[in-house]
Amino acid sequence: MAGRDPWLGRRPLHLRLRFLQGESTGSYVTRLAARNMRPVEQLLASIGAGPMLPVEPQYTEMYVSRYGRERLANLSGCSVAELSLRLISLRDEFLLSDGSGDDWEWPWDARAGFIVQACSLCAARRATRAPAWLILPDPWHVCLRHGRWTDNSRSLQSPYIDLREHPGVVRAQQRLNRLRKRLGYAAARWLEADALSVLTCVGYLENPSQSMDEWGRLAARVGEQRARPVAQFGMLTRLAWDMAWLEERRRAGRLSAEDGLSWLRRVEQRYDVAFNRPLASWISGHQPLQHTRPQGEGVGTNGRDQTEGVGHGPAPLASLQDLTCLPWVRMPNEMDRLFL
Ligand SMILES: [Zn+2]
Repeated sequence: MAGRDPWLGRRPLHLRLRFLQGESTGSYVTRLAARNMRPVEQLLASIGAGPMLPVEPQYTEMYVSRYGRERLANLSGCSVAELSLRLISLRDEFLLSDGSGDDWEWPWDARAGFIVQACSLCAARRATRAPAWLILPDPWHVCLRHGRWTDNSRSLQSPYIDLREHPGVVRAQQRLNRLRKRLGYAAARWLEADALSVLTCVGYLENPSQSMDEWGRLAARVGEQRARPVAQFGMLTRLAWDMAWLEERRRAGRLSAEDGLSWLRRVEQRYDVAFNRPLASWISGHQPLQHTRPQGEGVGTNGRDQTEGVGHGPAPLASLQDLTCLPWVRMPNEMDRLFL
């Protein structure tokens, strides 16, 4: 763009910053400024030109132009490639258009993904005391290292849910990690999406405040909306794990109609008869693969094209509701701006 100072942001800032996995660009920029004891507005002015709005990374994501990304990489002391790898919203698909007059933007809502508070103990390991924020495909995050569940509530009074009181949630995340390792991230995520849709259809713990057990107590403490995904998480990963049995056979071209029926009977006994209808619908959306189909091609769960999104899998910030092909979808972002 004409008139830009070619020397702007050429020199790296004195102090570098360790990345947090999944961090939002807005959070990183705020932390980088604080680490170098500068107002964030001054750092933004070194990136280029843009609206001088209050910087509130807890509410939305910051997006930059190609020029702004280069300047930010220089200031950070790393390459554009490394920065784009670490900060997902700096990837090409999220850059401001070349015709835009601004080098950064804070839209009202993140264009993809959810702003979730980072585990403060993980942030502290990277010398950050103020809240840091992640941009994730789910409106929650489980830190297995510190046993904490964080979400998109932005609550500073109770910023996390202590999983020492909910060991089943830790086991659920470990189960999900094993599933991702076994099937690959994309296939596991599609299964997770369909499992969530099934839970929505049967209304599983839709209102945990009515429950008399640990979930009722949790809902009383943090509110029904924050408690719901925590309460459902164990069942979500168990169901996805069971669905994987069928999915693996389907992918290998070994799935018969009898397999589907006997699987349904087993699952019905294990859970509840209410699961039968949505799971039968899920199975009917699965066409057995042909043995001759080359590996890596074909359709994913429920006929989804495995090549959808970037590369061979779902877009990195696609939510579960975007990914399921079943019709029952609860909007997990209904509380996205609950505390605004
Ligand atoms: Zn942590």
